Amino acid sequence: MRIHHLNCGSFCPHGRRLVNGEGGLLEQGTVVCHCLAIERDGGIVLVDTGFGTEEARDPGRLGTMFRALMRPRPREETTAAAQLDALGLSAADVTHIVTTHLDLDHAGGLGDFPEAEVHVLAAELAAARNPRLSERPRYLEAQWAHGPRWVEHEGDGGDEWFGFESVRILPGLDAEVLLVPLAGHSRGHTGVAIETGDGWLLHCGDAYFNHAEVASPSGCPPMLRLFQNLTAVDNRARRRNRERLRELAASHGDRVNLFSSHDPWELERAAGPASTLRVTAG
Ligand SMILES: [Zn+2]
Repeated sequence: MRIHHLNCGSFCPHGRRLVNGEGGLLEQGTVVCHCLAIERDGGIVLVDTGFGTEEARDPGRLGTMFRALMRPRPREETTAAAQLDALGLSAADVTHIVTTHLDLDHAGGLGDFPEAEVHVLAAELAAARNPRLSERPRYLEAQWAHGPRWVEHEGDGGDEWFGFESVRILPGLDAEVLLVPLAGHSRGHTGVAIETGDGWLLHCGDAYFNHAEVASPSGCPPMLRLFQNLTAVDNRARRRNRERLRELAASHGDRVNLFSSHDPWELERAAGPASTLRVTAG
């Protein structure tokens, strides 16, 4: 098994210090879309897809408000499909996509892999298909207009994993991949745990945004704190789950490597400095 850490889309919001916790107020911030490509016997498993080919061709479909606030920079060369190609892999070999949730900056690449099975918590798919008024801006129906091969999972009744509930989603395959439900940011938000043979990776999606949130003592740049409070569907659950992740990092950080979707520092730590070359500026 080989795991590639990919940045499948960048944002350049204003106010670096407020977003990244360092740098100047007038500098632009850096936000990434940290995705995984797991090469294993029988095919490639992706965890999240960031922005895809359609967003690169037509960024306007992300909506005026989202673009004005977040300043996303979808590019053809940062799509998961293009990066697999650059690695000498084929998009046609992607058999499974595991989604942390279906927000428009996580599900953009689904259309580039129409044959893949797409794993999602049932509560998230229900929200995306039938969003409440307040949830409408986060989902973009066009990203699944091609009719993905959804595989829905229930978030409860699974196994225990480091004190969290977990759901095995790819039984019988060599790479153990689990959903670790972390509701709060969205209705059916989940972490994704991958056994690497040398411990675990836990992709925490948007359960937190900055590495300082799961450090002890913890902290969070003010813009990210505000953004998370405003966008959570259940802010109490979100905060409780983030605290559980902080405890996990403190007690089992030697066996579980946690990272979130949007933190460039975590991406660089996981993938090495070369990954920052794919963080688009301007
Ligand atoms: Zn996100």
